[in-house]
Amino acid sequence: MGKLHIIDHPLIQSKLAVLRDEKTDGSEFRELVSEITMLLCYEAAKYVPLVDAEVKTPLGISACKVIDGRKFAAIPILRAGLGMSDGVLRLIPSASVGHIGLYRDPETLLPVEYFCKLPGDIEDCDAFLLDPMLATGGTGSAAVRFLKDRGVKKISLLCLVCSPEAVNKLLIEHPDVDVYAAAQDRGLNSDGYIIPGLGDVGDRMFGTK
Ligand code: URA
Repeated sequence: MGKLHIIDHPLIQSKLAVLRDEKTDGSEFRELVSEITMLLCYEAAKYVPLVDAEVKTPLGISACKVIDGRKFAAIPILRAGLGMSDGVLRLIPSASVGHIGLYRDPETLLPVEYFCKLPGDIEDCDAFLLDPMLATGGTGSAAVRFLKDRGVKKISLLCLVCSPEAVNKLLIEHPDVDVYAAAQDRGLNSDGYIIPGLGDVGDRMFGTK
């Protein structure tokens, strides 16, 4: 069964505090998003099975453990998820990267697909779905559905901040998905933004406001 994992590690929490600060500029913001994602990915990868291996060191043979040969994919949801893919790749350089373009209709707040390009072997990959703000849960849930429809069996959703309503929706619709977040905030404003949250992550990351 999937569940919400709030990672309260001091390094994540202190980086999140800087990320929340409205005075943090774009360059520091991007670096922090990448670093926090890397730390979330470290936690999210704890389930990965290991197999025994032997490695020849300069002084002898060492019994080691290595990842069991499975493949991974980082799947950022455009546009703000783009800033997180680097954090996964820093830890798992062999991961493929797929992109899902979904935007929230400003009137209905419902997800609308406009782009999807996934690795050809996506059904064989464990997927880290990346969306910095799990706000209404509509986009995240639709993206999970997308991946499942393409045969993906193991999906972990990594976000920086989530709202209680989004997590409820996601875990009801996809009880097999684990959600990893740095924080769960109190709720949403009338525009569907997380309060107090981070503001518009895409705008802060790409300087588009
Ligand atoms: N997207 C954002 O960038 N911020 C939010 O709070 C919600 C959605």
